[in-house]
Amino acid sequence: MSICADHHHCQETALSTAETLCQSRGIRLTPQRRQVLALIWQSHRPVKAYDLLDQLRLTDSQAKPPTVYRALDFLMEQGLIHRIDSLNAYTGCGHPETLPCDCYFMICQTCGIAEECCNPNLSARINAMAKDRGFQAQHTVLEIAGLCQDCC
Ligand SMILES: [Zn+2]
Ligand SMILES: [Zn+2]
Ligand SMILES: [Zn+2]
Repeated sequence: MSICADHHHCQETALSTAETLCQSRGIRLTPQRRQVLALIWQSHRPVKAYDLLDQLRLTDSQAKPPTVYRALDFLMEQGLIHRIDSLNAYTGCGHPETLPCDCYFMICQTCGIAEECCNPNLSARINAMAKDRGFQAQHTVLEIAGLCQDCC
């Protein structure tokens, strides 16, 4: 995996960033929300809600779909994770401290890794184009399917 050199470190950093962010915003990263975030950060492959539920049930047999969806809603509101629409799955945001950002993704069709490829120039172009046409852009989804460096 060429996205990060040391994924354990990557996951730890994501979790501690999330804790710091929530603290500074005066909101609670409850153990359950933290656990869902940790599961999402297990790898750079987007995970589906029902897979998260299966994993949560290993430690909490009472976990139900609303448990997962509530945690996902919270994490998305805080910009800590993204929904990958084309896969109907979730992935961690690598830079949640820089909100708001329309994050773009390159998704490998072989190994399933989704790499963020946010680009302020591209965002500016998209917003300018929308504005030229009198369109009020609110949220841009850009998901590029292909093969990553390792799978080419
Ligand atoms: Zn990583
Ligand atoms: Zn992001
Ligand atoms: Zn790949």
